Amino acid sequence: MKHDLAHMTIATARELLDRGDVSAVELADAYCARIAEKNPTLNAYLEVYDDVREQAKAADTMLAAGTRHALTGIPISIKDNILIQGKIASAASQMLATYRASYDATVIDRLKKQGAVFLGRTNMDEFAMGGSTENSAFGPTKNPHDLSRVPGGSSGGAAASVAADLAVAALGSDTGGSIRQPASFCGVVGLKPTHGAVSRYGLMAMASSLDQIGPLAKTVADTEILFNAIAGRDSKDATSIDRPRPPTHDKKLVVGVPRDFLEKGVDPDVLENFENSLAALKQSGVEIRDINLPNLKYSLAVYYVIMPAEVSSNLARFDGVRYGAHVDAPTMLEEYLATRRAGFGAESRRRIMLGTYVLSTGYYDAYYGKATMVRELLKDDFNTVFATGVDCILTPTSPTPAFTIGEKSTDPLAMYLADIFTVSANLVALPAISVPSGFANRAGARVPLGIQFTAPYAREDLLFTIGKLFEKANRA
Ligand code: GLN
Repeated sequence: MKHDLAHMTIATARELLDRGDVSAVELADAYCARIAEKNPTLNAYLEVYDDVREQAKAADTMLAAGTRHALTGIPISIKDNILIQGKIASAASQMLATYRASYDATVIDRLKKQGAVFLGRTNMDEFAMGGSTENSAFGPTKNPHDLSRVPGGSSGGAAASVAADLAVAALGSDTGGSIRQPASFCGVVGLKPTHGAVSRYGLMAMASSLDQIGPLAKTVADTEILFNAIAGRDSKDATSIDRPRPPTHDKKLVVGVPRDFLEKGVDPDVLENFENSLAALKQSGVEIRDINLPNLKYSLAVYYVIMPAEVSSNLARFDGVRYGAHVDAPTMLEEYLATRRAGFGAESRRRIMLGTYVLSTGYYDAYYGKATMVRELLKDDFNTVFATGVDCILTPTSPTPAFTIGEKSTDPLAMYLADIFTVSANLVALPAISVPSGFANRAGARVPLGIQFTAPYAREDLLFTIGKLFEKANRA
C-alpha cells in the first residue's frame, strides 16, 4: 500500500517504519523531494546534507536487525549552530560560512546512536541573535503560512521546516525565546528545556547562562519523544543535570495567570485567543488562578543587559585566527578588527558593543551587577508562586502574531519588545513550552498563535501533561 508520506508526526512515522510499511530511505526521499520543491521559496534550509540517503540506509539496516529506538529512521532538521562532525555549521554568519565542525554535539551523538536521519541545517538569526531570522547573513526565511511574513526567530528555519513539512521535527536553540516564539509564529510546538536538562556541548554559545537546545515538532507528544532522546547529564557539560523522576501527579492541575502583566502592548485578538484558551483549559478541569510576579516587568531589561554581556565575551573567540573568516592586515590588532568587521552582521556588532559597555569598569555595578540581582528577585517570584501549588504559569507566547518581513528590522527596540513573554523562563532557568492556540487574521492571511506554559525546575513532565490536555481541549 502507498502511504502519504506528508503531515507525518514522529509517532506516525515510527509506526510505519516499525511495521515495515515504509523504509527510512523512502521516507527520507519523500522529505528531500519536498525540500527541493519548497525550499527555494522558503529558505528554511541553508544546506541539505549530501549523505541523507546513506544515513537512511544505515537506519534501515538498524531496523532490519531489530534495533528500534524512538528516532530510528526519523528525518529531522538541525539548526545551523549545532555541530555535526565534518559538516558546515555557520550560525548563519559570514564569520563561519565555510567552517566545518570537528566534533559532534552531545545531542547529535545521542541522536546518531538512535539512527535519526539529519536532513540538513536550518536558517537562523546570526549567532541566534534576533526574533525574525532576518539577521541571517544568508537571507530571511519565509513563514509558510504567509510568505510576506517572518517565521520568527532565531530558530525560524527550524520552525518553518516543521510547519511546511520539510522535516518531521527539528532541533533549535533558545536563549530568550528562540524556540518558542518561532514555534508560535509557524503553528508548531516548541520546548525550551530547564537550563541543564540538555547538554550544551557542541552548541555554539550565545549567552551560556541562558542557552538551551530543544525540540520543535508538530505535537506535544513528539516534543516529548525528542526531548527524552536528547536530555540527561553529560560529562562534557558541567552544568548539565540528571533527569529527576517526576513525582506522580494525581491532583487537579492549577494554572497561574499573571494578569497585570498582560494588559499592555498585547494585540486585542491575541488577548481574546488567550482568554479562549483559558476557557478551554477550565472546561477540561484545570483550575485557573490569578498570580502576581512583581518583578516580571523588569525581565526584558534584565535580559538585554545579561544576554549581551555574555554574548560579548562568548563571541570574543572569533578573532580570525582560531575559527572561520580571516582578513589579512599589517598588524595583528588590525587583523582582529578587519576580520570582525567583515565577519559579523550589524546586530551581532550592536550586542557585542552593548555587552562590552555593561561589563566595563565604572558601569559594571550599575548595569551588569544590578541585572544579576534583579534576576535573583525574579527567581524568588517564580518560586513563591509555585510554592502556593500552582503547576504552570500561562501567558501568550508573543504579544503579536508573525509580523511582515522588514516591519521591525530597522527598529531593534521594537524587535526586542516582542520577546516580553519568553525571556523570563531563560533568566530563571525554568522549562517552558509553546503550544498552538489558533489563528489571527492579518491583511487577509490566517496566521498562527501560540500560548506558553512555564513549569517549575525540571518539571518538563508537567508541560507535556498540560500541553497534551490543551491540544485536546482546543481541538474540541
Ligand atoms: N529574540 C531573542 C533575542 O534576540 C531571543 C534569541 C534567542 O533565544 N536565541 O535575543
